[in-house]
Amino acid sequence: MGRWLFDDWGLRKGYLRVSEDGLEEICEGAPPSDSLKALVIPGFINAHTHIGDAFAYPAPRGRVEEIVAPPDGYKHRVLRSAPPERKLAAMREAATYMANTGTSGFIDFREEGVKGLKEFAESLSGLPVRSVVLGRPSGFGDPRGEASSVLDACDGFGLSAARDFEVGLLREMASLTRASGKAFALHASECVREDIDAILDLKPAFLVHMTAAEDADYARCAEAGVPVVVCPRSNEFFGFRPRISELKRSGVTVALGTDNGMISVPDMIEEMKAAFRLGRLSGALSPTDVVELATSGGRKVLNATGKILTNSAPDSDLVVIRVSGDDPMLELVTEARSERIHAVVRGGKVWRAETCRR
Ligand SMILES: [Zn+2]
Repeated sequence: MGRWLFDDWGLRKGYLRVSEDGLEEICEGAPPSDSLKALVIPGFINAHTHIGDAFAYPAPRGRVEEIVAPPDGYKHRVLRSAPPERKLAAMREAATYMANTGTSGFIDFREEGVKGLKEFAESLSGLPVRSVVLGRPSGFGDPRGEASSVLDACDGFGLSAARDFEVGLLREMASLTRASGKAFALHASECVREDIDAILDLKPAFLVHMTAAEDADYARCAEAGVPVVVCPRSNEFFGFRPRISELKRSGVTVALGTDNGMISVPDMIEEMKAAFRLGRLSGALSPTDVVELATSGGRKVLNATGKILTNSAPDSDLVVIRVSGDDPMLELVTEARSERIHAVVRGGKVWRAETCRR
């Protein structure tokens, strides 16, 4: 299957030789004439999700403060009132959707303290998609005591925004994380520009959004080697626009995420299409740039967190996407749909679309 291969070495002719048992060989060069007309790319890394609120899809319209801000934005009210089994079922459905549509790994920000992390782990049990989960204190009880038990239960902290926390507590959480060798990450400058130096002082593994940031802030992230995860559909929902080509031009590592499950289905093809659509406004984002955000960008973020989930070479986690024309990269970021995914290769095993129906 396949006519083209795309990975860190670029686009070239190539195909996969597969048998009943799985992937036999990745071949470069012209494929046999009966090979399926398809593009083969590395599995997606969804670098920012909140699958915990997927049960509340679709979210009502509103400003960031009304919909997602703690402690009483819409998301937090519904998270408190929804029955756990409803949340668990929707988290499992979101992760299954990711597995079936070619996502090999995702980085989730989970709300609701230790309880939320337990629900997350339970909902994912047995699913073939890898995850890094970053928790946060629930806001009930003593935040300092809670912070260390949250950290023990996950891969690090994934916080709403620096301004939602008292500065002393924020610094303590950051140093606690460093001492444990885990990741500290947060949303930054989503709807208002925040002080980038104060944020970078916390030594984050990566930042999410930076839609209200300015070029000087991007330059500071590039100097500090801190990647930025952009979420174009979530930004569109709130009326913002990620400046992806400007971020890249500043030398920042950029990755792609689908953000809240109550806002967007965790579909990386749809996210790439939104990134391309919005990137076109500033004129400098190519189809290749966009596919890299969804594949190698996320892998770079994971290395920065010190957690390698994609320790496999691109040859074992792959997505095979059917193509109709002769420009597979442009087609992927403009008209492809996840229904065009023909197969997902995971650890050398081939999951054909007909057996992993979404
Ligand atoms: Zn988010």
